Amino acid sequence: MSALPKQSAPAFDVERVRADFPILSEKVHGKPLVFLDSGASAQKPRQVIEAMTRMYEHTYANVHRGIYQLSQLATDEYEKAREKVAHFIGVKDTREVVFTRNATEAVNLVAHSWGWKNLKAGDEVLITHLEHHANIVPWQILGERYGVKLKVAPISDSGELVWDEFVKLIGPKTKLIAAAHVSNTLGTILPVAEMIRVAHEKGAKVLIDGSQAVQHMQVDVKALNADFYVFTGHKLYGPTGIGVLYAKAEILEGMPPWQGGGDMILSVSFEKTEYNDIPHRFEAGTPAFVEAVGLGAAIDYVNSVGLEAIAAHEADLTAYATEKLSAVNSLRLIGTAAHKAGVMSFVLEGIHPHDIGTILDREGIAVRVGQHCAHPLMERMGVQATVRASFGMYNTRAEIDALCAGLKRVREIFG
Ligand SMILES: *Cc1c(COP(=O)(O)O)cnc(C)c1O
Repeated sequence: MSALPKQSAPAFDVERVRADFPILSEKVHGKPLVFLDSGASAQKPRQVIEAMTRMYEHTYANVHRGIYQLSQLATDEYEKAREKVAHFIGVKDTREVVFTRNATEAVNLVAHSWGWKNLKAGDEVLITHLEHHANIVPWQILGERYGVKLKVAPISDSGELVWDEFVKLIGPKTKLIAAAHVSNTLGTILPVAEMIRVAHEKGAKVLIDGSQAVQHMQVDVKALNADFYVFTGHKLYGPTGIGVLYAKAEILEGMPPWQGGGDMILSVSFEKTEYNDIPHRFEAGTPAFVEAVGLGAAIDYVNSVGLEAIAAHEADLTAYATEKLSAVNSLRLIGTAAHKAGVMSFVLEGIHPHDIGTILDREGIAVRVGQHCAHPLMERMGVQATVRASFGMYNTRAEIDALCAGLKRVREIFG
């Protein structure tokens, strides 16, 4: 975390924030919507929706192609969004920010470009037991194609990385460590700065999956010294269809293109094609530039509220929810790490999470139930599935009270 001057954080007013999110005044089954699934995708403030509409209505044309004014305006807005992303994660050189479709595509880009060039049979990629499938399967595919081995660092019963085991697993063949910054299922915040430090001491590169981090805390990829850092726009209050790969310029420079097409080339002939410079080399085809502009607006919005204020508000919600949920009859929290961000996973003894989710939905309460794209982690924690309530900046203590009241109803129905 970077040290920002305290006085720059404006006072946090959750009702004012809520007023910016049109969907929060919707009703579900006649009840006010209680949206507790921001970990799957966050809702959008009107500022994001309006920025995208404005572009479609006033400055829309394909980017990097036309010499006419509209195309140049659109290109400027697209590149300005890249600057906003760079600044947001502590990066000065915008060439280090590649726009992708989502976090999944960003991880795949690294696997199939950097991995293809740098990994060979017998090399190891070390992940953790709490990864999202997006940070497991791309490495398994490399295993199938090139014989790269996947190693998995264990997670404790409370959902924390077992540090000594993690360090022991980093060997001479470990070329890459790929780990979540924050677990989407348990909320655990991993000690990524220390992980990156030991990885570098042992000569491994590090990819951090920040899909559940950037919306909850200030992230400075330069201070972390991450080699790769990925996240997804739609969980950061931005639109779907846009994600980010940050990578150090010297690493990106050495990476071959992954997808071929327009925009990623300087010249094409049937004998030889010359590739474009970074980051455009990795943005084949027409990019999701309206979505990028929407993401830029989301970052402006998050900055205007203040990440410190958001983090403090969400820490309050997490503490409150931990206390209130623990008091619900036969409820067991899954994931009780000391450092958590915005996620509460739990089970109710003897009741299937899908039944819980269905009954809560009748009360207007949206939670995620199931395995949260983390099957190996579910198995590790000894559960088939969980109910997951995850928070955004717009959630309130009253909504946690509503969740607890809903769970009491579930208990009554099932006896
Ligand atoms: C949601 C999520 C992803 C994947 O994001 P997409 O937008 O589906 O690509 C990856 N990792 C974590 C930790 C996530 O929560």
